[in-house]
Amino acid sequence: MSTPDRTTAPAAAGYDLVVTGARVVTPQGVLEGGVAVSEGRIAAVLGPGETPAAARTIDAEGRYLLPGVIDSHVHFRTPGLLYKEDWEHGSRAAAAGGVTTVIDMPNTQPPLIEPDDAAAKAAMIDGKSLVDYRFHFGVTEDSIDNLYRLQPRQATSVKVFMTGHHTAPHVIRDPQALDRIFAIAAERGIRLVLHAEDDGVFALLDDYLGEPEGYDAYEPSRPRSGGIVAAARVVELVRRHGTSVHIVHVSSSEESVLLRAANRAGLPITFEVTSHHLSFSASDTQRLGARIRLSPAIRSLDDQRDLWNALLEGGVATIGSDHAPHTVEEKSRSVQASPPGLPGVQELLTAVFTGMRRRHPELSTDELMTRIAQVGSAQPAALFGIGDRKGRIVAGLDADFTLFDPDAVWIMSAGHVQAKCGWSAYEGWTFTGRPDVTVRRGEVIWDGRGESPVFGSPTGIWLDAESSVLPVENGPAAVPAAVPAPA
Ligand SMILES: [Zn+2]
Repeated sequence: MSTPDRTTAPAAAGYDLVVTGARVVTPQGVLEGGVAVSEGRIAAVLGPGETPAAARTIDAEGRYLLPGVIDSHVHFRTPGLLYKEDWEHGSRAAAAGGVTTVIDMPNTQPPLIEPDDAAAKAAMIDGKSLVDYRFHFGVTEDSIDNLYRLQPRQATSVKVFMTGHHTAPHVIRDPQALDRIFAIAAERGIRLVLHAEDDGVFALLDDYLGEPEGYDAYEPSRPRSGGIVAAARVVELVRRHGTSVHIVHVSSSEESVLLRAANRAGLPITFEVTSHHLSFSASDTQRLGARIRLSPAIRSLDDQRDLWNALLEGGVATIGSDHAPHTVEEKSRSVQASPPGLPGVQELLTAVFTGMRRRHPELSTDELMTRIAQVGSAQPAALFGIGDRKGRIVAGLDADFTLFDPDAVWIMSAGHVQAKCGWSAYEGWTFTGRPDVTVRRGEVIWDGRGESPVFGSPTGIWLDAESSVLPVENGPAAVPAAVPAPA
């Protein structure tokens, strides 16, 4: 593989799009300049003052040009739950949040547990999505054999729920079934994406403590012990089978430390933290109630601090939104009946930047942006088989980026919300930083600079993937730094 020049000659008629005046966040560091785009790909990273001819030129006016965020944890509710969210609204929320690719979860109605249904689901989304997308496949205790037929085109990752609502068909409660899933995934090069909380622990607690009467009693009914027990089980299963796993929405200090230790010991275990576990703590429960009734539950300020430290120190592989909207009516029910989840794909990037900026005044904006580009873009791309075309600002890759103003200070209100549910747990928050323009494969899909925001066309595509998961030694600790040759 040859390394291309940083700049390549423009086509005779000029580039399709040129961005100038940016601070470009590349794998080699933050550079003053811009990018030139041709046929949806980054044709060149431009130096300061370079302004080649183009059909359209955008002056970034000093904003950061950050790789488009890849949110590998969304529930866009297609098919079957369109009253909560749909792809039109979900992908607009994504674009407005600087997200250019999403990976959707399989717990829809019906769930995505038949390999052939992946193409049918993509056909439902076709023509509705501003952003590109892939799917995590699902598995139930009765559908494990389907993993033998799963092709990388359909999915390279399988979501496993180790807990969930007592009527949910997709919760894997049988230890032998779980063992089999780990074995087949290892054999077939599938990455498991785990909701790792132990359903047995929660069943015992429900019998002993009874149903929570108020929101203050919710976290104690779904405590950290559920996550710790499940994480320990996962470590044991990975030792036995060698399966590559990514644990989503880790919420406590103890899980974070255990999983980092396992990764350091050479086990192919990585984990995600969500913007809401980084943003909220138990002290917000009285005020926000159902809006932050989440699974896993929101934990203490100490947990939150330790998750931030893990994120800054490189222990966290990805940030995700777990965008899981419910209607206002659903969230108005009693504490027992209100479903867990909140919208978040639009808030993900800004919420994480806001928290980082406040917690680390000693770090430069370049340093913060570089870290966000790793956990928000490069690492999710590498983990989920799309690192050959997404996740980095490098000539030859897809022209997916957002122009981010790190100095914008603004208050989130319901009027900003693009998700179909129309509410945000962050209403009233003062955010620092804002994605002002989002570009997906060279097309502007969000421009929020003017009085009324402008969206692009819903021409997002179902992405193909590399053949299987990366080997252990190419885990997120060593995301490939080599620059792929332009196709
Ligand atoms: Zn989720």
